[in-house]
Amino acid sequence: MVSRRTFFKNIMGCLGAGIVWPAIGYGETPVWNLGETQEFQVPAIPIHDKIPPPFSNATAGVLTIEAIEDLLDDLDCIELAARYVGTKHLERNKDKYKYEKHGRCPLCRCDEFSVTRQKFECEQCYREGNAITLFAILEGLTCREACGTLRGLLDAGELRGNKAQQVLLWKIMGEATAFFHDVLCHWPEGQPGRDWLAQQHISQETRDMWFLGYIPPHHSEFETELNAHLVGQGFQTPDIKDARVGVPAEGVTLPIQEANGKCWGYVNHHLNTTTESIYLRRMEDLSENRFARRIFPFPTWPRDVLRYETVLAVESEWDVIVLCQAGLHNVVYMGGWGDRKRSLRTALGLTSCLIIPVRPSYLFGRVFDEILPGMAGYHDRLGFLVLPDDEQDLLDVFRAEGADGLQARMINPLTVAQVLSM
Ligand SMILES: [Zn+2]
Repeated sequence: MVSRRTFFKNIMGCLGAGIVWPAIGYGETPVWNLGETQEFQVPAIPIHDKIPPPFSNATAGVLTIEAIEDLLDDLDCIELAARYVGTKHLERNKDKYKYEKHGRCPLCRCDEFSVTRQKFECEQCYREGNAITLFAILEGLTCREACGTLRGLLDAGELRGNKAQQVLLWKIMGEATAFFHDVLCHWPEGQPGRDWLAQQHISQETRDMWFLGYIPPHHSEFETELNAHLVGQGFQTPDIKDARVGVPAEGVTLPIQEANGKCWGYVNHHLNTTTESIYLRRMEDLSENRFARRIFPFPTWPRDVLRYETVLAVESEWDVIVLCQAGLHNVVYMGGWGDRKRSLRTALGLTSCLIIPVRPSYLFGRVFDEILPGMAGYHDRLGFLVLPDDEQDLLDVFRAEGADGLQARMINPLTVAQVLSM
């Protein structure tokens, strides 16, 4: 059990742990090289001004971070670095799994600079970051100013960025998930998937709403069929490879996608076990921050800002589907707790009260060691639903008591203060 002293130490740590803007401490101001004749107008709208005024700082933080993630998705850090050092000074990295290019550092001019589309690192000046931080250091801007300027450069076509390629990859992934969905709904090979969904009481409506799919056994043959289908849809083989669609093992697939068409991969639920595999390598590569902050389902901002009075955190993506089928829509999956501090912030954008189910004997350990250190001062927005005993998980409670029983348990969750006084 954790003492109160440790608790207050954690809270104080949380209060100082806001992650809104990366710190920039360098004074260099090299000139942005746009060519001799081009004049560049700095866009007038900083990201801050796009935040609707009625929202709290915590919520505004979610929207600000979201705008930054969108910008990072669109930027190409390699292209940006090359504008300062010249493309010939950045060569393909032999260790291509970590960094795509290696060469001259735009900051210290050494030759120990490594860069991908997402991030950079220099082994000489020890600076590292993403396209926004690189540009901010080089131009002597704050990160906020750098965001506005970079968005303007992309919009004006001065920077090519990643967007065109990203859109293509999302389309390929979207086509693959449509293919899996078609197998589940219409193919004779999809029958085991249909039978399994019927056993789980998942309706066709829920199946279609979440765009569930099915991968039959013998998936290497199936992968060949999928590739042929994608080529038939007009996609080029190198792009299909780049999208890393792959074919998960047999099971029901659940696409991980956003309402704006960003399609990142899928979770695969094996039929005869409770095992789930996640296939989000492309997302991890291309959108590292968003990957770390993801929750399921992805919120649609700003529509979902403080949309629900309470939100229940569950144990898996599949739990979200099962509870949705029972009419519970205020449910999210945030991944394992150990590394989920950032997704906690995303979830808090949805609600003023996030309810976390906890087994009785784990209450103190989980609250103090895993959850509070990631709360960044928002501990008053957490509630705890204590499960009946250590043997039952949330879905057991749902099966025994139904959606109404679960909702009744969500009405008065324990607060942090109540946990402390136990
Ligand atoms: Zn350097």
